[in-house]
Amino acid sequence: MNSHKTHDIVIIGSGAGGATLAYALADSGKDILILERGERLPQEHENWDPEALFKEGRYGTDETWRDKDGESFSPSTYYRVGGNTKVYGAALMRMREADFGEVEHHDGVSPAWPIGYDRLAPYYRQAEALYHVHGEAGTDPTGPPREADFPYPPVPHDDRVERLARDLERLGRQPFPLPMGVRLNEEEDEDGPFLLRELYKAMGHEAFDGYPDLTGMKADAETICLTPALQHDNVTLRTGAYAERIETDASGHEATAVVVRTDGGTERVEGDVIVSSCGAINSAALLLRSAGDRHSNGLANRSDQVGRNYMAHNNAAMLALSKEKNPTRFQKTLGLNDFYFSGDEVDYPLGHIQMLGKSNAVQLSTEAPSFTPNMALDTMADHALDFWLTTEDLPDPSNRVRVEDGEIQLHYTANNTEPHERLKGKLKEMLGDIGCQDRLIPCSFYLGKDIPLAGVAHQVGTCRMGTDPDASVLDVHCKAHDLDNLYVVDGSFFPSNSGVNPALTIMANALRVGDHLRDRLHA
Ligand SMILES: Cc1cc2nc3c(=O)[nH]c(=O)nc-3n(C[C@H](O)[C@H](O)[C@H](O)COP(=O)(O)OP(=O)(O)OC[C@H]3O[C@@H](n4cnc5c(N)ncnc54)[C@H](O)[C@@H]3O)c2cc1C
Repeated sequence: MNSHKTHDIVIIGSGAGGATLAYALADSGKDILILERGERLPQEHENWDPEALFKEGRYGTDETWRDKDGESFSPSTYYRVGGNTKVYGAALMRMREADFGEVEHHDGVSPAWPIGYDRLAPYYRQAEALYHVHGEAGTDPTGPPREADFPYPPVPHDDRVERLARDLERLGRQPFPLPMGVRLNEEEDEDGPFLLRELYKAMGHEAFDGYPDLTGMKADAETICLTPALQHDNVTLRTGAYAERIETDASGHEATAVVVRTDGGTERVEGDVIVSSCGAINSAALLLRSAGDRHSNGLANRSDQVGRNYMAHNNAAMLALSKEKNPTRFQKTLGLNDFYFSGDEVDYPLGHIQMLGKSNAVQLSTEAPSFTPNMALDTMADHALDFWLTTEDLPDPSNRVRVEDGEIQLHYTANNTEPHERLKGKLKEMLGDIGCQDRLIPCSFYLGKDIPLAGVAHQVGTCRMGTDPDASVLDVHCKAHDLDNLYVVDGSFFPSNSGVNPALTIMANALRVGDHLRDRLHA
């Protein structure tokens, strides 16, 4: 097996965690190698073609995993330079301040983090600036304290979403501009033309949430962090480089090399510091695959916590049909947290509601009965308002990633589902109450879909961070308790999940770990 020179830092994975960490360390002068199993996602017209994406699964993976009953399924995940951020919706939200402490839920207590909000707040601020987050301070009733307003003003609502916001306000609700990571042309004119909307109008449908970006306007990890990091001579990216296992020295205390599989064969890549940023499921799988004499249960797994406590939210996509057409061309601009900490009738958290990207007939056809006529799908898409609902799921040690015969198994039993059902009920109730004004028949739900196990978009928690090495995998710097130089910097570290989208927290944490590694390496 070939062996290469020792790098100062080897980062495995180039998604939200890995690319942001590479960016944070790029100007340190240290020799940084990023190993990415995927290739660059080509910019091509299929990026915005719903048939190619949702019917042919053009950019997804052929890999299959197994559930707890041994049933095979295709995970909805993207092995690409930039990771899952290449297709993400770029709703970039901070966790609430209270989420860092214990929170009492319907099904139990969501555990506290070993760091408080104050520790992450400066990095949230940096991450928001880096990822061009647009929003408005003081509008989200549950929003954490902010040191300053968002770096960019909110993305204005399209007319239909603006009317929805006003209708919700008339009910006494507090919709707010959803914080969004998108590169608009603010310098020229804050309210000026919004190129994406114009492009989507010309194309006839929106192509943001769930689509790769043809324009470079989505603030994804490749565009925002990797490309600038690679401007530095000391930073190198190798694509098509699958990290099979991590080796240690004879003592078992130091990670020495990554065994990498490429089209050309297998080789060892040595690093003084090794960082796994493969995403929560694949980082756990990598550590479990790295079992050896000194680590018979998997690397960094003395606590037996690697792979456990997998969380991904209770998620639902819901469509409301209204009489009025919805010609919106950028729908992901509104959020609602009125039920985040309690419902009207109950004092436990229900969760968060945000707009989804605007649906189209092709997307609807993948869920509708096969005999549904195209015209009906077109009409539905023309009238639909689309929502995404998330409710916190609680860490459960038996919800876990395992590796059997080299194959990933994802064992998961949903919990805290009662509040999720309530949250759906609240949305239905509000839209019914709105009657969507006299222009509309009352909004009625036609289609609502709970996201199945394969929907691993919000995967976190499989190598949780904590101060007790017997009960956690990582210390507060995201270094493995059991090893001197192995870090995990992706969604794996979450001790609990909160009810908001995870990416901004993963990015902010990567910047935080970047500062720690600079100190460590005297960079
Ligand atoms: C359709 C969709 C919409 C989303 N919308 C939002 C949103 O609006 N807001 C939000 O906050 N979040 C959203 N997310 C989730 C968000 O994308 C993830 O939280 C985030 O990308 C996770 O970052 P990560 O670093 O943990 O992993 P990833 O970004 O997945 O990066 C992991 C990287 O590691 C690579 N890798 C894996 N295994 C190996 C290996 N063995 N060797 C080498 N490389 C490897 C992968 O190819 C990948 O590039 C969305 C996700 C999807 C799929």
